[in-house]
Amino acid sequence: MRKKIVAGNWKMNTTLPEGIELAKAVAAKSAETPSSVDLIVAAPFTHLASIADLLKTSKVELAAQNCADHASGAYTGEVSADMLKSVSCKWVILGHSERRQYYGETDAKLVEKLKLALGAGLGVILCVGENLEEREAGKHFEVVGAQIKDVLYNFTAEDMKHIVVAYEPVWAIGTGKTATSDQAQEIHAFIRKALADKFGAAVAEDTTILYGGSCKPSNAKELFAQKDIDGGLIGGAALKAEDFIQIAKSY
Ligand code: PEP
Repeated sequence: MRKKIVAGNWKMNTTLPEGIELAKAVAAKSAETPSSVDLIVAAPFTHLASIADLLKTSKVELAAQNCADHASGAYTGEVSADMLKSVSCKWVILGHSERRQYYGETDAKLVEKLKLALGAGLGVILCVGENLEEREAGKHFEVVGAQIKDVLYNFTAEDMKHIVVAYEPVWAIGTGKTATSDQAQEIHAFIRKALADKFGAAVAEDTTILYGGSCKPSNAKELFAQKDIDGGLIGGAALKAEDFIQIAKSY
């Protein structure tokens, strides 16, 4: 049985005191969520060590939003996978569309990051998704298929035990526009098939595939009811503990 996950991506929001308050509120309310749903919060680097302590006694797991594509050394401003592990991070989000779009994150770079993250013992949430132009040109299967192949086909079935895929149509991120549950289901099934083609049906069935893009309490239930949607990667709505927990309770 694959895991159901609701993960919050705080992006570059909250000062440390605000982040601590948010983490405390999420941890306190996490007991209200179904035991079958795992909760993850991806906080800014500066908050990780402090928040790790606060989450220890709750079911909420900690993620970072990125890591370096080198193990260590003269890479000013970067944070390595080993550093994340050393502050009790369990997960790292890689390939978020904002990093692909604003920081030139390529699939080749992502392969290096994934290798380092997995090597450090982190789980990876790999984001894929097409932009509006690609969707309107009917190229979404091609784009997402290429992202899956160019990154994940470099890994093994064993590695896939530590990898979650997040399908995030770029046109739905932070825009208030959500993919319909049919649109999301269609591409989630396509991703699962692409995984089955490379790793076999059993691995594909066991891989958690999250939906992300303006997911909120009002639409989570319908999205999560789809056969191949195993939870959500939540941006804006993860900044309010109440909304984030409400989304997790949609299961
Ligand atoms: C995200 O950035 O991963 C995301 C899904 O954002 P939002 O929920 O705000 O669209």
